[in-house]
Amino acid sequence: MLMVQKFGGTSVGDLDRIQNVANRVQKTVQAGNDVVVVVSAMSGETNKLVGYAEHFSKTPSVAEVDMLLSSGERVTASLLSIALNEMGHPTIAMTGRQAGILTTSKHTKARIEDINPTNMKKALSEGKIVVVAGFQGVNEEGIVTTLGRGGSDLSAVAIAGAIGAQLCEIYTDVDGIYTTDPRIEPHAKKLDKISYEEMLELASLGAKVLQSRSVEMAKKLNVNLVTRSSFSDAEGTLITKEEDIMEQPLVSGVALDRNQARVSLIGVADRPGIAADIFTTLANDEINVDVILQTVAHDGTTNIDFTVPTNELEMAKNIVKIFEERDEIKSADFNESIAKVSIVGVGMKSHAGVAAKAFATMAEENINIRMISTSEIKVSMVIEEKYSELAVRSLHNAFELDK
Ligand code: ADP
Ligand code: ASP
Ligand code: MG
Repeated sequence: MLMVQKFGGTSVGDLDRIQNVANRVQKTVQAGNDVVVVVSAMSGETNKLVGYAEHFSKTPSVAEVDMLLSSGERVTASLLSIALNEMGHPTIAMTGRQAGILTTSKHTKARIEDINPTNMKKALSEGKIVVVAGFQGVNEEGIVTTLGRGGSDLSAVAIAGAIGAQLCEIYTDVDGIYTTDPRIEPHAKKLDKISYEEMLELASLGAKVLQSRSVEMAKKLNVNLVTRSSFSDAEGTLITKEEDIMEQPLVSGVALDRNQARVSLIGVADRPGIAADIFTTLANDEINVDVILQTVAHDGTTNIDFTVPTNELEMAKNIVKIFEERDEIKSADFNESIAKVSIVGVGMKSHAGVAAKAFATMAEENINIRMISTSEIKVSMVIEEKYSELAVRSLHNAFELDK
């Protein structure tokens, strides 16, 4: 069959591991499959490059940053291709551009607009193994863009959709999707299957095992997605349609996002349209606002609190300043030592009392809940960061996810 195999940073973390990946790809090919391999940069590499850019500038040009960051994936794609070649396989390494990946121009978090699979298809028809550098594309002008952190997952899923692959395998350092991050809760259980909807929530709420946009895309394009380990032959987790899953537990997983900061706007002018103004300005900069809380103050103004990813806090601060200068906000306060812990499960749709139980669990541990947000299939709580792991373990235990 035609398949995509994506290998994450740890899986290509050093030369021995790249050889290990080459051996795995060889097995796939020898079993009679056609394969497009998508690779991440070696683990730590992207952060190192970000650090290099910041050595010269606190606010480096995002276009140059993309040019720089895209190099990490090119290194691993080329090396894997060379290794496979040495083993006797015809291969071709491609950049995002050569693979036909067209994106928006929003540097460092561009969206894939279209994929022209001509080059990949031609190489496959010539019997070659195609190795694509993940995490990158080009905009309409041919300028290099990157797809947001963890974006190689998205490259893999989008390519699977574009070439009509029957399967997209995401190889990583855990052997599937667990009820929570197994690094935090050793009793976490591996799931055989999880629905696109639940996986999307878990990923958006901090479970970085899959980039959330990749799950969104997999759902949209109906890609058969499997997450598994590059270090073992254990069967992974299938991410699939809700109706294909027989047993729907009340709660499927617990997610933690430490990378959240709270913005508190104090004394916000109480006029119709002010919230729209503030949040539209934030959205125009693609700042991901999550939990929002509005409270009425005594003096006819309101207070608005919301959370943003920590790495977008500086941008948010600049926007807040604009509103302060216009006297539409009296003052603002920022707090980076918060975390968001969430429970996710489609079973919640038809059961009452899940949120109450989550709150009671926090109360038993004496953890103060600062903000709450809920949807049909999730409950999120903003808490002090120092209680993160305790909160995850208590919720995991309270909802009997280890059973
Ligand atoms: P890669 O470099 O292969 O892309 P990542 O580091 O991005 O890998 O993602 C894998 C990590 O995701 C795991 O090591 C694990 O700590 C973390 N993780 C968080 N939540 C979960 C979960 N629910 N199930 C499995 N892994 C999870
Ligand atoms: N190398 C990029 C990152 O570290 C993309 C990826 O690994 O998926 O975010
Ligand atoms: Mg990843």
